[in-house]
Amino acid sequence: MSRNPNKQRFPAPHAPSYYAQSANTAPERPAARGEIRAQACVIGAGFSGLSTALALAERGYQVIVLEASHVGWGASGRNGGQLVNGYSRDLDVVEQRYGTEAARALGAMAFEGADIIRERVARYDIDCHLRAGGVFAALNARQMADLKTRKTSWEAHGHDDLELLDDTTIREHAATDLYVGGLLDRRGGHVHPMNLALGEAAALESLGGVIHEQSPVVRLEHGPPARVHTDAATITADTVVVCGNAYLGNAVPDLRDRVMPVATQVMATEPLGADVANRLMPAGSCVEDCNYMLDYYRMSGDHRLLFGGGTVYGGTTPADIEAKLRPHLKRTFPELAEARIDYAWSGNFALTLTRIPHLGQLADNVYFSHGYSGHGVTTTHLAGVLLAEAIDGDASRFNAFAGLKNHAFPGGRLLRVPLSVLGSWYYQTKEKLGM
Ligand SMILES: Cc1cc2nc3c(=O)[nH]c(=O)nc-3n(C[C@H](O)[C@H](O)[C@H](O)COP(=O)(O)OP(=O)(O)OC[C@H]3O[C@@H](n4cnc5c(N)ncnc54)[C@H](O)[C@@H]3O)c2cc1C
Repeated sequence: MSRNPNKQRFPAPHAPSYYAQSANTAPERPAARGEIRAQACVIGAGFSGLSTALALAERGYQVIVLEASHVGWGASGRNGGQLVNGYSRDLDVVEQRYGTEAARALGAMAFEGADIIRERVARYDIDCHLRAGGVFAALNARQMADLKTRKTSWEAHGHDDLELLDDTTIREHAATDLYVGGLLDRRGGHVHPMNLALGEAAALESLGGVIHEQSPVVRLEHGPPARVHTDAATITADTVVVCGNAYLGNAVPDLRDRVMPVATQVMATEPLGADVANRLMPAGSCVEDCNYMLDYYRMSGDHRLLFGGGTVYGGTTPADIEAKLRPHLKRTFPELAEARIDYAWSGNFALTLTRIPHLGQLADNVYFSHGYSGHGVTTTHLAGVLLAEAIDGDASRFNAFAGLKNHAFPGGRLLRVPLSVLGSWYYQTKEKLGM
């Protein structure tokens, strides 16, 4: 049996993740009721919504966040926790598709998301086990060549603190025979994502922002002023920002076909102990490999290996996550072949056809951001700041994204999944054949 989270009924309890189990305590946040007035209303309390709301509150806006379930319930509270700089497509692809000016603008912002996270963790004293260092690991010479190109391209856009690793030095980050080398990004890193989301929620509230949990938005009228409806409340707002990403469903129909939900899974081993953790990943960084269907992993604060991978187009949860991921874990660290798995869970991210985040407006007063295409921990944080800048009167950086052409998925709701599976099969086959 498999379960389709797109048919999820809100509100729902957290996924059975290691993060939900180890979350810091959080207050009850009552559902919205009755008629409410707000300067800005944000839909969704994941990183996109929280980052936007916090950036607006820091600028003095009075903000209300409506969350269908709980803070961090979506991808933000259950992801791999990796602060990956850049976008899901390299900057040379951005340049080929959209031109030099677009590449220059996106390139300048490519490392900002992780800086925003570090700055907020420090400013609001957020307890979320933030660690430095992210590695892209190459499984073959072609992937290594691509990493060299990425390093050159990032450096050309002013981002350094990068180091190429060979088949010996990469073992400081992952003691496995799998890799021919890699690229270390010292400005990348990793974090307990649920605790980051909870810390950002508390930071927002410390500035006067209000979060209503268990408040699924069912309808949006643009106005102006906009009116945001839940079953129990109507929020009248000067500005609305839609941040439901892969879980938005049909609540805002104009956005439905712009992204496709894709499921990916993570599992957490039993605590391995400090000695094993330090032997397998001595530098304490996080790792993602360069495959089209990538593996990503890191050690948690209590020395569990958090190992993620796989993608399911359409957002269906595999029946047996452990059976799916264990062969990948075994291939990476054979000594963990029999390790006990304490938690295994699935979550949905949103894919755009271009693999570039999609920011834009549905009306002068209605904004949205979604579609980080698997690399969203940092880009959601950037997006929130760009949205706040635009709402506050300076749309220049927001427009660098909003001006990029975005296409709906071909095939509509029925065919977009099979067409994407076909596309991914093509890329995986190329990879297997070394093409
Ligand atoms: C398993 C997994 C692993 C991942 N690993 C990484 C990683 O290591 N590094 C990385 O960079 N990225 C990773 N990602 C991607 C990253 O987590 C996402 O891109 C990012 O968290 C998206 O944040 P978001 O706020 O836009 O969406 P979400 O976090 O999904 O938040 C959307 C929120 O909106 C709410 N919502 C939806 N509809 C409504 C409605 N109608 N009314 C009110 N609220 C609504 C939902 O309940 C949800 O809380 C991963 C994703 C998954 C699923």
